[in-house]
Amino acid sequence: MKELLRQLPPIHEIQKNEKFIAIKGMYNLSQDQLTAMTKEVVALIRTEWLHTTNGEYTPTAEQIQNRIFEALEKKVKDSSAYSLQRVINGTGTILHTNLGRAKLSEEAIDQVVLAARNYSNLEYNIENGTRGSRHDIIEKVIKSVTGAEAAMVVNNNAAAVYLILKALAKEKEVIVSRGELVEIGGSFRVSAIMEESGATLVEVGTTNKTHPYDYEEAIREQTAMIMKVHTSNFKTIGFTASVPLKSLKSIKKDHPQVLLYEDLGSGALLDFRDHQIGEEPTVREALGNGADIVSFSGDKLLGGPQAGIIAGKKSIIKRLKKHQLARVLRVDKMTLAALEATLKAYTFSDEKQNDIPTVKAILESKSSIQKRAMQFLEKGQGLPFHIKLEEGTSQIGGGTMPGVELATFLVSIARKGWSAQQLFNELRLSEPSIVTRIIDEKVHIDLRTITAEEIDIIITTLQRL
Ligand SMILES: *Cc1c(COP(=O)(O)O)cnc(C)c1O
Repeated sequence: MKELLRQLPPIHEIQKNEKFIAIKGMYNLSQDQLTAMTKEVVALIRTEWLHTTNGEYTPTAEQIQNRIFEALEKKVKDSSAYSLQRVINGTGTILHTNLGRAKLSEEAIDQVVLAARNYSNLEYNIENGTRGSRHDIIEKVIKSVTGAEAAMVVNNNAAAVYLILKALAKEKEVIVSRGELVEIGGSFRVSAIMEESGATLVEVGTTNKTHPYDYEEAIREQTAMIMKVHTSNFKTIGFTASVPLKSLKSIKKDHPQVLLYEDLGSGALLDFRDHQIGEEPTVREALGNGADIVSFSGDKLLGGPQAGIIAGKKSIIKRLKKHQLARVLRVDKMTLAALEATLKAYTFSDEKQNDIPTVKAILESKSSIQKRAMQFLEKGQGLPFHIKLEEGTSQIGGGTMPGVELATFLVSIARKGWSAQQLFNELRLSEPSIVTRIIDEKVHIDLRTITAEEIDIIITTLQRL
């Protein structure tokens, strides 16, 4: 064994090898960077030999060298690859939080690139030649699509909730129905954010029922706010009652100092009920029903970048903009660029809203999805896989409209001698990664979230397997 280990060439010798020099040039690495990786590779081979060989292994010097440079090149390649990669979403879940939620529209992408590549008027008033505010970039378009008096944007909706509670209810009380004290996506809990903000949570009602008098009885001098929270990924059914904003508005008549805030979660700008999808009220409706202020995500139903949008009364938004936290939670120019372009689509006709991939995917008809499924079948002919057309349902995801099932077409893919899990893993580990669903012991791809171009990528991948 000692003999074998002694055959490993010293680092200074490897450095002189032409392959070392070639790798260095090809991957644009410094001597120090490649030397560090070489040391790691040699140490790894040494450990491997110590644990696996028994003295009978006698490689030639050339074999050892090949082994070192193969491992080194792989290491260099792995470390130069991006961590954030494209993934093909075959799950049919449109707003898959693990897969990056909303895809941006082409307009939004163009605006992001423009903002990234150039200087911009992010905080510059071109007309007057004076300092401007980044809030101005986005406020007008939010007002126009929601009907709000004023608006602002922060990092995400969780940040919006935090800012609102901290700026408007710190050291005061906030009344929330027990039926709305939800946890969303495992990391957002209203009660935890409330505690962090310094506001005191006053729970009213029960898990399944809360009545107007529950709120009314809880209002005291210290009450700053009544907060309604969209229950998002959670649905109570059966013997239930919650208090609509409209009724809360009448309570407010006797208590004008109490603010009405609704965390809408998804924040639909389009009325999906017109398309017989879900029961999601629009942002405009929530404001019209008497909310002083609302907040919602940019990358859920809206179909834009990650952001938290706050809209409502001018006097309240003014207080929020002035708060120190607003500076901490502010969004960058690329987010503003993408959000403005996404929101602009809502100011045009319905057809324009189909430019937003999220909206398009939600509204896409079964027959239109079927066409892509048929294309998949056609292109998959002759492959050593059994590919079959199936009917099923897709989910919206992202904690949005739980229980809503959109009728869709899928393809099931199987191969003789392969388990579903095996195929699922192979597709996941291919490049780009293809994420599928296993249903009834078969791999399924939902064509709702697959583009025509992605069909070709999947077919090519299957060919290679
Ligand atoms: C999703 C959601 C949040 C968190 O929004 P992010 O934009 O993910 O930070 C907060 N409240 C509700 C009701 C939600 O559905």
